[in-house]
Amino acid sequence: MRMENKVAIVTGGAGGLGEATTKLFASEGATVVIADVLEEEGRKIEANIAEMGGVGLFARLDVTDENQWKDLVATTVSRFGKLDVLVNNAGISGSDPDTLNTDMWDSLMEINAKGVFLGVKHAIPEMLKAGHGAIVNISSISGVVGQDYVHMGYSASKGAVRLLTKTAAAQYARKGIRVNSVHPGVMAPMLTSKTTAPGEVRDRMIASVPLGREGTRLEIANAVLFLASDEASYITGAELMVDGGFTAV
Ligand code: NAD
Repeated sequence: MRMENKVAIVTGGAGGLGEATTKLFASEGATVVIADVLEEEGRKIEANIAEMGGVGLFARLDVTDENQWKDLVATTVSRFGKLDVLVNNAGISGSDPDTLNTDMWDSLMEINAKGVFLGVKHAIPEMLKAGHGAIVNISSISGVVGQDYVHMGYSASKGAVRLLTKTAAAQYARKGIRVNSVHPGVMAPMLTSKTTAPGEVRDRMIASVPLGREGTRLEIANAVLFLASDEASYITGAELMVDGGFTAV
């Protein structure tokens, strides 16, 4: 199994891409902490993982709250002895019709960018103790190219994730910690999607995908699994586009 004996935290693990990732990790032998604000959904996934014969634990986390991060990492290490992998996946959408809304900018930067920084900050001390670790940060195609249908703050937050990943990789590579980013393309809408929910904009987005369709959640989870696993032992600071060619043209 590709994640045997590994302990992983997946933020936003109670839904969407995070749910696919937690379940895939568990099926590959990892112990998975499902960290999310959605308690009922998270507990359901914890139960699903137990039914699969895996080990999962739901832990409430708002990624913007530094004290909750401290508690989460402490709980993970006291329950499971270590922390090998962190997937910073939690996020909110920027597909808001008001692309100049200042409150939206603040929320996007707070959750999508600062939330990832806090995760990296609090995971690294445990990984340093162990002498190894892998962090996978979920950015987006929006962190790489401009789009006319998302709030500028979404692009800025995902661009921040892309570059903070490379700097963290540069700073911690010699200590055995790898940090990479995954960039999903057009996927099933997020819980918070507005303009990119099914409709004209979404049809236009799909028409821009060379492979001609949206991606599946498992296709993203497979990329995250690869970067989190020892198969990617010589990969750090990389940005992996999982976008059907969207950013290639
Ligand atoms: P989703 O809305 O289905 O899931 C996001 C999860 O994050 C939810 O479980 C939600 O409760 C959680 N979350 C939100 N705010 C949180 C907070 N403050 N603290 C803790 N958890 C919080 O979206 P998704 O499609 O699964 O997106 C996952 C990641 O992938 C996000 O970072 C998103 O920006 C990125 N992404 C998604 C798409 C897409 O089209 N769906 C495309 C590119 C990138």
